[in-house]
Amino acid sequence: MKQRISSFQSVPQMEEIGKLTYVGDGIARATGLKNVMSGELLRFRNGSIGMAQSLEKDDVGIIIFGEFENIHEGDIVKRTGHIMEVPVGEALIGRVVNALGQPIDGQGPILTTKKRPVESEAPSVMDRQSINEPMQTGLKAIDALVPIGRGQRELIIGDRRTGKTSIAVDAILNQRGKDVICIYVAIGQKESSVRNLTELLKQHNAMDYTIVVSASASQPAPMLYIAPYAATSMAEEFMYQGKHVLIVYDDLSKQAAAYREMSLLLRRPPGREAYPGDVFYLHSRLLERSAKLNDELGGGSITSLPIIETQAGDISAYIPTNVISITDGQIFLESDLFFAGIRPAISAGLSVSRVGGSAQIKAMKKVSGTLRLDLASYRELEAFTQFGSDLDASTQQRLNRGHRTVEVLKQPVHSPMGVEKQTIMIYALTHGFLDTVPVNDLKRFESELMNYMNVSYPALLTQIVETRELPDQDKLNEALEQFIHVFVPHQ
Ligand code: ATP
Ligand code: MG
Repeated sequence: MKQRISSFQSVPQMEEIGKLTYVGDGIARATGLKNVMSGELLRFRNGSIGMAQSLEKDDVGIIIFGEFENIHEGDIVKRTGHIMEVPVGEALIGRVVNALGQPIDGQGPILTTKKRPVESEAPSVMDRQSINEPMQTGLKAIDALVPIGRGQRELIIGDRRTGKTSIAVDAILNQRGKDVICIYVAIGQKESSVRNLTELLKQHNAMDYTIVVSASASQPAPMLYIAPYAATSMAEEFMYQGKHVLIVYDDLSKQAAAYREMSLLLRRPPGREAYPGDVFYLHSRLLERSAKLNDELGGGSITSLPIIETQAGDISAYIPTNVISITDGQIFLESDLFFAGIRPAISAGLSVSRVGGSAQIKAMKKVSGTLRLDLASYRELEAFTQFGSDLDASTQQRLNRGHRTVEVLKQPVHSPMGVEKQTIMIYALTHGFLDTVPVNDLKRFESELMNYMNVSYPALLTQIVETRELPDQDKLNEALEQFIHVFVPHQ
């Protein structure tokens, strides 16, 4: 004992401590943290954590993660010297976690020791390679018209209840068996909807490869703000292992609103629509982290599908224009189409994919080439011929084809379709095989055709999957003619 006492050395440790001068609404201010870094993790007396957000001359604005009811003015707050990190790794797959990576599904702790900082630098230009692999969504209207590639950022934008979430979820369901890890980030949604969605993913066995990160509407703004970054860190862990990730941010308008709330409470000067001046940076630094890495770095990828909600279809508002300019294209959903029963309600004119075309499989590219033009000219003609009565044969034919194109691109929710089947259906459409099929029979035609192909011409289907090329057209025409022969139109 004596020996130990004599050899005891006290090593003085410096800890920088601040004092809280204000607490409220998930925000605190503290004085005394002279050397604190922006984004540094801070620890409150009750164990809650915070992040230094705005560094000013006399004090520091702090956002609080988690409980702030028992944090009071006058309390101390400590610097940690670290930036915020979240747990990452395989153990998270199949789990529902909050914005800090803590489990909220009641299935026990997440057994992983790996962590990554929530904010990290995006891969540089040299670290990347151009998009060259498709990210199939299983939706004909997307895979044919606005194809998405692995590593791409494709915005899903539209008014309330136009099927935005459904598209993203269908894309997740379609990744089954494709070696893609999916992350669904719910930002500012009702807890019940997140629960329903998780249940749906379970029913379709999609939780086997999916992580759900939820910062629900009832949580304070800082949690909504940080959730997309935290989820992206989880995605990066896989990307840098050479794996492929699909991440859905549902939705970034709510993250922007949370950031506005935080910024106003932190007394940052409000700018356009009361958003702080750096709101563009909020989304650009997030979406820049999606990438297709080069082969030396393993070739992994993060494909992102950010979602933005518009008001009355106004895509020229502040946040929508920001995110449109950051992403590589957008899928614009129109209420009018949705209510007219054209679902998914994708606007062919306003939706684009700026890079995905290079990743589309050759077969699909070949058959869908004229689809967009067909649709556009159909819309024009349709408006034009509403008044006219006598139509010449070629106009009638174009209307006829357009009508069928719209019908073929309709698809019910949660029934993704393989690219080989899509290719055959669109081939049939663009090569005139459907021109004589009554429009009301097209859905049934499609499902019966697929059964027929599966039974009678399975080689054609596997050939498209394996070679990605369009099979011998004579064979394809033969198959379609045979089927049309046996197909019984409804009288
Ligand atoms: P919110 O603004 O509430 O987030 P949202 O734009 O995400 O809505 P969804 O929740 O995806 O829209 O869809 C709204 C409703 O439309 C749901 O009931 C969904 O089942 C239905 N729906 C979506 N897509 C289709 C479709 N292709 N066919 C039929 N119904 C659909
Ligand atoms: Mg939604």
